[in-house]
Amino acid sequence: MRSHLYILKVAIPVPVYRLFDYLPPLDLDPKTLKPGIRLTVPFGKGQKTAFLIGIDSNSEVLSAKLKRIEAVLDERPLLSDRDLSLLHWAARYYHHPLGEVFSAAFPVALRQGKPATIKAEKFYVLTEKGRLLNPEQLRRAPKQQQLLYQLQTERDAVPASRLNAILENWRPAAKALQDKQLLRLEGAAANATTHLTFNSQLHPNPLQQEAIEQVVCALSRFEVFLLEGVTGSGKTEVYMQVIRSVLERGLQVLVLLPEITLTPQLEQRFRQRFAVPITVSHSKLTDIQRQQAWLGMQRGDYAIMLGTRSALFTPLARPGLIILDEEHDASFKQQEGFRFSARDVAVVRGKLLNVPVLLGTATPSLESVYNVEQGRYRLLHLTERAGNAAPPKMLLLDIRNKRMQEGLSESLIAEMHKTLAKNEQVLLFLNRRGFAPTLICHGCGWVARCRRCEANMVVHYDESLLRCHHCGSEQRLLPQCPECETGQLTPLGLGTERVEKALAQLFPGRSVIRLDRDTTQRKGVLEDALDRINRGEVDIVLGTQMLAKGHHFPNVTLVVMLEVDSGLFSIDFHASEKLAQMIVQVSGRAGRAEKPGRVILQTRKPDHPLLTTLIKEGYGRFARSALAERRLAELPPYSFQALLRVEATDSAAPLQFFEQLMQAVEPNRTVRMLGPVPAPMSRRAGRYRYQLLLQSATRPELHRFLDKLMPLIAGLKLTRKVRWSLDVDPVDLY
Ligand code: ADP
Ligand code: ZN
Ligand code: ZN
Repeated sequence: MRSHLYILKVAIPVPVYRLFDYLPPLDLDPKTLKPGIRLTVPFGKGQKTAFLIGIDSNSEVLSAKLKRIEAVLDERPLLSDRDLSLLHWAARYYHHPLGEVFSAAFPVALRQGKPATIKAEKFYVLTEKGRLLNPEQLRRAPKQQQLLYQLQTERDAVPASRLNAILENWRPAAKALQDKQLLRLEGAAANATTHLTFNSQLHPNPLQQEAIEQVVCALSRFEVFLLEGVTGSGKTEVYMQVIRSVLERGLQVLVLLPEITLTPQLEQRFRQRFAVPITVSHSKLTDIQRQQAWLGMQRGDYAIMLGTRSALFTPLARPGLIILDEEHDASFKQQEGFRFSARDVAVVRGKLLNVPVLLGTATPSLESVYNVEQGRYRLLHLTERAGNAAPPKMLLLDIRNKRMQEGLSESLIAEMHKTLAKNEQVLLFLNRRGFAPTLICHGCGWVARCRRCEANMVVHYDESLLRCHHCGSEQRLLPQCPECETGQLTPLGLGTERVEKALAQLFPGRSVIRLDRDTTQRKGVLEDALDRINRGEVDIVLGTQMLAKGHHFPNVTLVVMLEVDSGLFSIDFHASEKLAQMIVQVSGRAGRAEKPGRVILQTRKPDHPLLTTLIKEGYGRFARSALAERRLAELPPYSFQALLRVEATDSAAPLQFFEQLMQAVEPNRTVRMLGPVPAPMSRRAGRYRYQLLLQSATRPELHRFLDKLMPLIAGLKLTRKVRWSLDVDPVDLY
């Protein structure tokens, strides 16, 4: 057969909704090329890494014009057939170009066409002698002592990459310990066949036991579980005991977490429990490290991966279980490019791989509560704190007409003094960084606005500048009003920087630490701060939502949310759900140990139903009443949405784009079109923004409509003048 009858259908990571045709290489039998392999293809003036989708005998392009691929990068596809179907499904569901979806599934290095080879990682394991030796006996060789101590606390086969991260210049010490037969080197595979866990499994309480049994019974099939339990109720312990059962079957586990809860402490906790090779994947690793982790899972070298959203597509040689912790967390939704929900795709992946999916949280998303009601997910409820910690008490503090000092009411200040006097710590939470969100002229009313956004500039006194939190623009902080040149500039509103200064005055002699994106940029700062807090060197911790998750502060007994009211009046219907989740998550930081915790919420709306339901009846009740409201308003999950966003530097272009589109669209009774309207932030980074919300009572109807809409959009001339994107199941309407 002549080779040009084989046409390779190829997906290329470019924002185009079609496949590209190429001819096979001359020196290879096209029949050996399997869908899913990576190829290098000529594209435009350069070349790209592409993915083989299929082989056909037809092409719409004249064969004389077809180009030949330049290289075949993989002998066999790196993804299984089921994972390839997952990507096809995701491209259809999110109406996103297949090439970009494929690309998102691979680590950066492989996307760039690097060979899919890995250095088999070596693990350091203590010998029996090494495990028993008292590190004191090595005190004359401090580095060796340190290394031995580290390996003894990890109690694990420790990969060289991890030693690099925790100990400088450790190799000579490792060599010395090896010479003394305290330490040996092993390959990953050998290590996987030894014992699974160290004997530190806790005795589960009855609720944990019930949850563990239910998941373990489902280990050989697909089912979705929602593990609901407040912080400290023992969810992580449930994960670990279920994981043990998966490991006993020789299978692998993928654990997905939000970036900020994937802490070194959590990783350590897993490494101390499990003797199997564990790997992590998150944004602080290098491309090479992430490729190693990805390929290591693909080859089956590792038994457990802890990763963030982007780890969702990591191939598993022996899939056994997918866990997604903090399932309600907005960071599981990608907000740009391929806008997928890692939670929703994880559920589909579980179904395709025929493995259970375990979703955990203290504050389930309304979608998941709804899915439990519909019988699609099974609820596992941990209603008590594990061990003997008491739940925190929540209190609404009415601040109407109260004297305030920089956002702190007098009774709050008194409560803080009492707590500090008992040698306990206070945590203050304010979700706004900078000094103040607005700068206004007392003389003429001028307000500092961003030149590129429909937004105010935020005052940052520490750095003497004004900064836009939407586009990052900066201006020097001027001594005088640029408009009237005489008026005094007055900061309006509260940010963490301002509260920090107030605390220094109100609580002289107390040590205050501020943790937000501005103070924790440098590597290691956050970790140091957390250590200092846990050692009791800090009295008052002040911070933004980075404090709401993952970290445990055993000596904090008073948690304060300085301001909750702004979350009560957002135009986005998701806002009340997010606020309730935030309040519960922040509360979870207090009273972890024997000391009971208290939570104070300052509000001017003490009778607001959201707050009273949440405080008096708990998150479960709040969720049910919020769902009832959604049903009445026909909002998701009782309807299905997609948001078409369009932006351009030319202020008229987005509306012209929508006009052209509306002319081309056939009216449809089943899909409502709300808009186009200016986006809630109508200009950002110099671009004018508009959006059109599409809503339907059923998912298939919405998707049929989108199937027709996408080619229409692609055909519009104006697509060259605007940037547009489609967001299926949007969680953020901004
Ligand atoms: P969560 O993940 O829900 O916040 P964890 O699993 O981290 O909860 O458990 C909270 C604390 O309680 C941890 O210190 C854990 O070691 C402890 N713990 C969990 N389960 C038990 C148990 N069955 N008995 C005693 N302590 C437990
Ligand atoms: Zn002025
Ligand atoms: Zn801006």
